[in-house]
Amino acid sequence: MSFECDVITLFPEMFDAITQYGITGKANRNRIFNLNTWNPRNFANDHYRTVDDNSYGGGPGMVMMAQPLDDAINQARARQTGAGINKPTVVYLTPQGNRLDHEIATQLSKLPGLILLCGRYEGIDERLINRQVDVEISIGDYVVSGGELAAMVLIDCIVRQIPGALGDPESANQDSFVDGLLDYPHYTRPEIYKDSHVPEILMSGNHAHIRRWRLQQALGRTWLKRPDLFNLKFAHGMTLEEEKL
Ligand code: SAM
Repeated sequence: MSFECDVITLFPEMFDAITQYGITGKANRNRIFNLNTWNPRNFANDHYRTVDDNSYGGGPGMVMMAQPLDDAINQARARQTGAGINKPTVVYLTPQGNRLDHEIATQLSKLPGLILLCGRYEGIDERLINRQVDVEISIGDYVVSGGELAAMVLIDCIVRQIPGALGDPESANQDSFVDGLLDYPHYTRPEIYKDSHVPEILMSGNHAHIRRWRLQQALGRTWLKRPDLFNLKFAHGMTLEEEKL
């Protein structure tokens, strides 16, 4: 069964970027994941297909109205239920959500399907979020103009984890964060590039030595670039992060 993904978006064409290109495009063609889009404009109930309005209380910017989103989500739910998914999970992409990381992506990749809600403007009427949303996910502590890029980031990192999506299943296991470390450095031909040589050990053919070197590199660069990933506690009981404060 494929991973079923329904996206509520004012800009469905943006999703061609993941359904047509690269690993996700291939996974889509191989039916490892299936993506449907629902445009809330098609659920608006006025002649102008209005989906946004001014903010109660005043202030700049427009707010996405609850009703077109409500109806679009219900249609997406009905489609997923028809596809055999018992209770599809509705995810709102928002800077106010849980920050996306490898662990969250792994958990979500185990679900049979997701309904992703993409906001625009100042965001979405809070009542819709309270009624329909199960999980809120952020792609980081910054604001982008719409939920579409965030949804595509989420879909891509989920699809990479679905068995069969990557040509070599081992490559996902070697990525950064999977074992808690950053990935080791990679090299390809030529052997010498502008006076810089590929580390000799990689040419040795000794796979045990190469494995050990790569682990040392992964440990070293994690220590240097992302010491927070170790979350070590020193003898006096403080973590590295606390120690730095
Ligand atoms: N006023 C909102 C706030 O400050 O929380 C931001 C609105 S933003 C301009 C419009 C939409 O982009 C949001 O509704 C959300 O769907 C999406 N978005 C923006 N930043 C995001 C982030 N870091 N992670 C996930 N979605 C984001």
